[in-house]
Amino acid sequence: MPIQDWKPVIGLEIHCQLKTKTKMFTSCGYKAGEDPNTQTDAYTLGLPGTLPRPNQTAIEYGLRLGLALESELHEESRFARKHYFYPDLPKGYQITQSDHPYATGGTVRFPDPTDHGEALTVRLVRIHFEEDAGKNLHLVGDDVSLVDYNRAGAPLLEIVSEPDLRSAAEASAYMRELRTVIRYLDISDANMEEGTMRCDANVSIRRDDDAPYGTRCEIKNLNSFKFLEQAINAEIRRQVDLIEGGGEVIQSTMSYDPGRDQTKVMRTKEEAADYRYFPEPDMPPLEISEAWIDSVRATLPELPHARRERYGALGLSIYDAGVLTAEGALADFFDAVLAAKAPAKKACNWVTVELLGRLNGDQRGIEDSPVSPEHVAELIALIDGGTISGRSAKEVFDKVYAESTSPQAIVERDGYAQVSDAGALDAAIDEVLAAHPKQLAQYAGGKVALKGFFVGQVMKKTRGQANPQMVQELLAAKLPQVSES
Ligand code: ADP
Ligand code: MG
Repeated sequence: MPIQDWKPVIGLEIHCQLKTKTKMFTSCGYKAGEDPNTQTDAYTLGLPGTLPRPNQTAIEYGLRLGLALESELHEESRFARKHYFYPDLPKGYQITQSDHPYATGGTVRFPDPTDHGEALTVRLVRIHFEEDAGKNLHLVGDDVSLVDYNRAGAPLLEIVSEPDLRSAAEASAYMRELRTVIRYLDISDANMEEGTMRCDANVSIRRDDDAPYGTRCEIKNLNSFKFLEQAINAEIRRQVDLIEGGGEVIQSTMSYDPGRDQTKVMRTKEEAADYRYFPEPDMPPLEISEAWIDSVRATLPELPHARRERYGALGLSIYDAGVLTAEGALADFFDAVLAAKAPAKKACNWVTVELLGRLNGDQRGIEDSPVSPEHVAELIALIDGGTISGRSAKEVFDKVYAESTSPQAIVERDGYAQVSDAGALDAAIDEVLAAHPKQLAQYAGGKVALKGFFVGQVMKKTRGQANPQMVQELLAAKLPQVSES
């Protein structure tokens, strides 16, 4: 059976590091990028006698995400210890939530990446709190390994999806949407390159959509969207080859080697560590009151899918709505253009094509845009009101972008106003007709397509500033009446 006939099934476990000032269970500060081992305390280092105390802001951030994804939030949840030995884990265990997470269920809705059409829905199994481990640094060539405990104890949310994803592209689109939601909520930088968002992908294959799920393998630590997609596709290929060759998939933990574009087995289920989970004895169950949940709910921003629906209702395509809402700041900018009374489709075009094109070219974000939302709305009004032609509009926009000046001021200063004065246009048309007797004769002989030529000449003569609609009308009145030959 050819590979494309196999049906992949994918579920993601995503970790995101919360941007709180202090760690998950201690008041020790944490910020990425500081000198190694400058952000530790007795608790972080696992010294005897230290006790964990949950970070209230981290929990509030967790509630924000749970509410945004419509998860069920539990008034009581519990922490547990997950034991393993590794040099970056000084306590010898990680505090996590296993059997009693604070949030279960929920959904993530995102546009289908293949046709930018119908929204896809992925259900969540759970969201829970965890603390991060430190970092081992292996110095290649020096035969030395170092450990940095700064990150040990940093607050994490783990978001576990149901196996609802059906391709690598869907998995990556799902993860992008989650990243957008997390950034809208302002709870994490959710940056894969910087490690504040990380992903493990579970992959299995089956022969058709109704068949029971196959055995899954889990690819660990994918740290870019590109590697996420490549790793899933590589794992699908490996499983297909295995089954087609008469073998069977054994539940395993995999790593992905981007150089070879291959996944390989790190350990199988039999070799899996026994983490000896048990309830954290140093902390009571976590209690979250209804009143707290309600107060957090009241602070939620409009979420990306709601914004996409709102833009869709204004007549924008799902694709355009997706571009505009991918970043909260961009959607805010667009909303400000709408608030300045610009029509949605034109506003979308100027923002996504003209403005984003220039900003991307200069590697600038929308936050540093020299063009304000009011400038965009004003420019559109100048075009719609017939003051400037569509052609001059782009030049005017270039100047608005370069100088951060209002379009109206540029139009006045640099003389971009369209010539809509019938007398002036009449004169220009007369000159054009007088200068091209040959074409005029051909026109009279039936070559009516030459009208476009005359319009072009008039536009040229007026440096593109003639009102094209008026040129058409005035010209029609002056040209001989002929029927098409
Ligand atoms: P574990 O701790 O064993 O990794 P979790 O419940 O944390 O278990 O996560 C299991 C993940 O595997 C979930 O994201 C789930 O969607 C996914 N998954 C479960 N069964 C399959 C399957 N047959 N194929 C692909 N993914 C699966
Ligand atoms: Mg897992």
